Amino acid sequence: MRHDVPSCKGRKTPGQYLCRSCWFRLTPAARRALNRPDSGAYGRLRALYRQLEDGVPLGEIEVSP
Ligand SMILES: [Zn+2]
Repeated sequence: MRHDVPSCKGRKTPGQYLCRSCWFRLTPAARRALNRPDSGAYGRLRALYRQLEDGVPLGEIEVSP
């Protein structure tokens, strides 16, 4: 899995997907879904990265809950 986010130039804390400013541009629903540590977490992370690579704006990224 890729860990670099093309649109994210900010500094990331280890263990976080995006820098703080990018993270808070996601929708609250997407942040809630990505924070949930259940068996679907890996799939949601992949969905996030796929949309980032496709150039989807941060505020329009959808992650299934
Ligand atoms: Zn960023």
